[in-house]
Amino acid sequence: MTCLALIGDKFMSVVVRENHSMYAMMDVAALEGIMPRTGQDLTGVRFGRLVALEKLAEKGHPTRWLCRCDCGETANPTGSQLLGGRVHSCGCIKAENNRTRLETHGMSHLRVYHIWQAMKNRCYNPNQPHYARYGGHGVTVCDEWRKSFEAFYAAMGNPPTDKHSIDRISNGRGYEPGNCRWATAKEQAANQRPKPPVTWEMPRGEGHFKATITEEMVREIRASAERNCDIARRIGLSKQSIADIRKGRTWRHVT
Ligand SMILES: [Zn+2]
Repeated sequence: MTCLALIGDKFMSVVVRENHSMYAMMDVAALEGIMPRTGQDLTGVRFGRLVALEKLAEKGHPTRWLCRCDCGETANPTGSQLLGGRVHSCGCIKAENNRTRLETHGMSHLRVYHIWQAMKNRCYNPNQPHYARYGGHGVTVCDEWRKSFEAFYAAMGNPPTDKHSIDRISNGRGYEPGNCRWATAKEQAANQRPKPPVTWEMPRGEGHFKATITEEMVREIRASAERNCDIARRIGLSKQSIADIRKGRTWRHVT
């Protein structure tokens, strides 16, 4: 059913279909006040990607229109197909939809598909917020996985739970077969934390995190003729600390 509707500040001819979807077809002003009806002149009127160019020589009913599609092809739908909102392209919209379905094997609704997309974005899309820590740091996705979701899916399968996401086993390597696993956030954090060395000693002397003086100062204190209280005041240590240094009770390793 075709009717008039005020859309924005323009009267538009609107096709209302049985499923209640609506197609705003044209600015009525552009039609010079003529409502399109089957059998009327549709020349220049746009229907989705199609623009009607001319009425084809009548060979009985229904009337067909030569239309140019935005993709460059032509189509010959009937006037009622156009006005009924049943045809919006030469067929290329349907072909595109089919191609998209094939490409994703109908898996675009799966979480693993979005994980695959996000992985590529982190590595190759500078507008992505995490790009700096990934692509910006030289992290890559191997060609096979980058080009094909199927290849990625064949290698990784689905994450075992919703809490698992993709983790690189070695941070020095990219997203590639053999270097990826499904891991929880907790497992990933453990993977990133630096591991303490096997033998580990608290640094001594000036390397100690609480050290306030250097080995050079220790040598100076021991060589000086100043009284403990004078040197303590000058350096900002206690008299006892100076005495300990001089008697070799502390900083024993400094000679
Ligand atoms: Zn087309």
